[in-house]
Amino acid sequence: MRYKLVKGTKDIFLNDINKWQYIESTSKKILEDFGYSEIRTPIFESTDLFSRSIGVSTDIVEKEMYSFKDKKGRDLTLRPEGTASIVRAYVEHSLVPPVKFYHIGTMYRYEKPQSGRYREFYQIGIEAIGSISPFIDCEVIDLALFLLSKLGLTNLKIRLNSIGCRKCREVYKKILLEYLKKKELCKDCIRRMNLNPFRVLDCKNEQCIRVTSTPPSILNSLCEDCKKHFAEVKEILAEYKISYFEDPRLFRGLDYYTKTTFEIVTDELGAKNSVLGGGRYDYLVEELGGDSTPAIGWAFGVDRLVLALESAKFRFPDESKKLIFIAWTTETAKKQAFKIARRLRTEEFRCEMNYEKSLKAQLKLADRLEAKLTVIVGTHELKEGKVILRNMEDGSQRKIDIEKIELELKQIMC
Ligand SMILES: [Zn+2]
Ligand SMILES: [Zn+2]
Repeated sequence: MRYKLVKGTKDIFLNDINKWQYIESTSKKILEDFGYSEIRTPIFESTDLFSRSIGVSTDIVEKEMYSFKDKKGRDLTLRPEGTASIVRAYVEHSLVPPVKFYHIGTMYRYEKPQSGRYREFYQIGIEAIGSISPFIDCEVIDLALFLLSKLGLTNLKIRLNSIGCRKCREVYKKILLEYLKKKELCKDCIRRMNLNPFRVLDCKNEQCIRVTSTPPSILNSLCEDCKKHFAEVKEILAEYKISYFEDPRLFRGLDYYTKTTFEIVTDELGAKNSVLGGGRYDYLVEELGGDSTPAIGWAFGVDRLVLALESAKFRFPDESKKLIFIAWTTETAKKQAFKIARRLRTEEFRCEMNYEKSLKAQLKLADRLEAKLTVIVGTHELKEGKVILRNMEDGSQRKIDIEKIELELKQIMC
């Protein structure tokens, strides 16, 4: 019996794993420089946590969650995003603001698989909890740009919007409803319209996208406080020459967002070109049982970023150490070779050997593994206290003293 990957999932290995590791290690370093520390939360949580935070009438909660009952009948869901879990942890452990966390891990959404979109996907994200200052809005946007450009992505643009607070949204909701009532919408949208008209604006149905392409701008409905906050965010961005364009349609598909929302787009991903998205969620901590605490965050999909970097012909650095292969000629030599491999590995050289193959087949394997050098241990040379060092690029060989292997390797590898 042979088994296949479940639809929407993938294995990552060999050449591809380098790309994931490169993105993860670069991100970790930069995020830590910006004051974020890592948090790891469980892959599954109570279903309630997600439906409450993300919103019951969103696409994610209505259609895309992997929900199940465990053996005791608890309603659980594989996390479809990171923010809800992190805010749950923040409240549960009574953390004191300000708190800045980053997370790296897999998320799960039952979506139609397509290029760069999987049902199990990797996400890297940040949450800055505890500040209402427009400076933090700019800091997280700036960080997003800096990180993506450090990772190798160019031609980045910021889509920026403010979706206001509860007050402004009540005002806008009425205006939006009036606008939507005159449109021909899909069944889902008609049902959701009165519940949550904002979700109509992120419906993926083509007809809905077309007829709602020019909704009334929410910016005209902002209250004084939200207007001031948005103006200050834009002022700070301008002061630091961070360019953006306003997009009043940017609602981001989740109910918890407030005030500033943003996406970073790149030309490398075609029409659906957003590579990172985020925004403020000033009510979520309170909604999940904590004190009223403002917060802001963003996340990007690693799979989509890899796709964008590949399409930009980015050369992923191969940071793995160069391999040294240890080959042998006879059973006696094999024992010596094993000893040398052990010794080199404790000196932090990356070594590989094989215990079954002929010398010819060992050298072939060394080639396949892209070894830079091969140490050939032969009975004949051993008598002189020497081994053969073979350069795998040009095939040249020379004898060296067994005691001096490390010294020679260090000179060649550096
Ligand atoms: Zn407001
Ligand atoms: Zn629709």
